[in-house]
Amino acid sequence: MRIGIGYDVHKLVEGRPLVLGGVTVPYEKGLLGHSDADVLTHAVMDSLLGAAGLGDIGVLFPDTDERFAGIDSCLLLKEVGDRLWKEGWCVGNIDAVVVAQAPKLRPYIGAMQEKIAETLGISKTQVSIKATTEEGLGFTGTGQGMAAKAVCLIESLYEGSAPVNAGCDGCPRKAEQ
Ligand code: MG
Repeated sequence: MRIGIGYDVHKLVEGRPLVLGGVTVPYEKGLLGHSDADVLTHAVMDSLLGAAGLGDIGVLFPDTDERFAGIDSCLLLKEVGDRLWKEGWCVGNIDAVVVAQAPKLRPYIGAMQEKIAETLGISKTQVSIKATTEEGLGFTGTGQGMAAKAVCLIESLYEGSAPVNAGCDGCPRKAEQ
């Protein structure tokens, strides 16, 4: 079992959609970035990559690469999930928090959990997402930007007690034999 942490920040600007956890949230501003700037999904990806020792999203999906311009970050999350699976890791759980003064995110949290879970092929109950403000303080408090933090646990398909019923058709090790 391994733990990972991810952290990301994006600037809020006018004229951009606000995408969080793959869900478009109605708001007067959106996050600025090379991709769709989904700060939550970026933090989740970095936690997963960190846990697996596979680098970070800046290495895998550089913002100098035109292939990633405006891309849906959930497509990148799918790629991250596939890479973990190929390395023999499955996701135990993800716990994340979005830091934003506005808008109120509670009505959209369930849809974000569903989207991230579906993208990674895991259960919604394995994905916890929370939202908080910083009480008007700092860059999130003044609405200059949003931040997201995520931690995750991943489990090896080969070690520990979780997937003892190895030998399933999807097991990468079985494919090697
Ligand atoms: Mg980012």
